[in-house]
Amino acid sequence: MIPYGRQHLDEDDIEAVLETLKSDWLTQGPVVPKFEEALSSYCGANYGVAVNSATSALHIACLALGVGEGDRVWTSPNSFVASSNCALYCGATVDFVDIDLQTGNMCMKALKRKLEYAQSINKPPKVVIPVHFAGQPCDMERLHALAKQFGFYVIEDASHAVGAKYKGAFVGSGQYADICVFSFHPVKIITTMEGGMALTNNSEWAEKMRMLRSHGITNNPEMMTEESHGPWYYQQISLGFNYRMTDVEAALGLSQLGKLEAFLEKRNALAAHYDKFFSECPSITPLKQSSDSYSSYHLYVVRVGSLTNKQHASLVTRLREQGVFAHVHYVPIHMQPYYKNLGFKIGHFPNAETYYQQAITLPLFPELTFEQVELVVDKLAAEIGS
Ligand SMILES: *Cc1c(COP(=O)(O)O)cnc(C)c1O
Repeated sequence: MIPYGRQHLDEDDIEAVLETLKSDWLTQGPVVPKFEEALSSYCGANYGVAVNSATSALHIACLALGVGEGDRVWTSPNSFVASSNCALYCGATVDFVDIDLQTGNMCMKALKRKLEYAQSINKPPKVVIPVHFAGQPCDMERLHALAKQFGFYVIEDASHAVGAKYKGAFVGSGQYADICVFSFHPVKIITTMEGGMALTNNSEWAEKMRMLRSHGITNNPEMMTEESHGPWYYQQISLGFNYRMTDVEAALGLSQLGKLEAFLEKRNALAAHYDKFFSECPSITPLKQSSDSYSSYHLYVVRVGSLTNKQHASLVTRLREQGVFAHVHYVPIHMQPYYKNLGFKIGHFPNAETYYQQAITLPLFPELTFEQVELVVDKLAAEIGS
């Protein structure tokens, strides 16, 4: 079976993990700040806060920006549920902004309209979370301008987009957003097994996130509200969590970071190979790519027009039966039973729903071969008869 995505580990990645296992530190130790420094400086951000998942990073990013009860957070319905769950963890209300059918990313026109309406009824969002779907950055310049105009914070869910570039700068540099979150789950671009990181240029938010990832505790006398009792003393000054990354995971992340550029080159070359075949196939449309960005190509998604739900499902099933583990990203979040119980209904975000009915994720990962791409193309073309 050809999976839709998978990690690539070399001997030196495994060596890095084994070495750390033999060191004094198994949980958060000296390798975690090394990984934070390496990735934040790679992306051009001042601070990196490593945690045990992107889900955790999104949660503490919301908390660092002060998200709480009575606040509103907006994100894309075409994402993994973690993009919106993070706001619910904070007691905030979630809403969605419909997507652009051609890119799968949040539609900036729809966002502008929704902001104007929200302003007219005095219910503006506190935070908007754009998701760089499949690795292609959203239109961040327009989003940033809207953030300035309407006064909201921006947390990029860049779980798909480590190493991607927007207008020449790495995603995460903080030019257009307040905090940027990466995921290191094995299907993503680089892996730490489980893991995530939040990048920011704001020292106060970084400090808050560092504290929140470890129980709300500080050892830093400058942050303490009462005098130290002695060298053993630590102080809990907020309600935090155990969201720490381990040194073993960070060692794997550091090692993987050295391969990031090669991973992205291979992913882009494979995507171009798919594109070449599909350009002659009018019924199969790859996601439209913007000329001012460099995608990290976490996913290779095509839209197949005019399929019924049943045809869509049987197409994915038949591909799997033939050894191609096709997938669908994503079930729109507002269509999930949990979100329906919050009041969302089918029809609320029509582009995300139409897109869902058409989208198929094809295999894309560094070890995939060009011959395998051709095999996938042949099988898909045979199935839809083009
Ligand atoms: C994978 C993913 C997450 C969650 O990442 P974890 O590291 O597994 O918590 C969040 N948002 C998006 C868009 C994702 O793809």
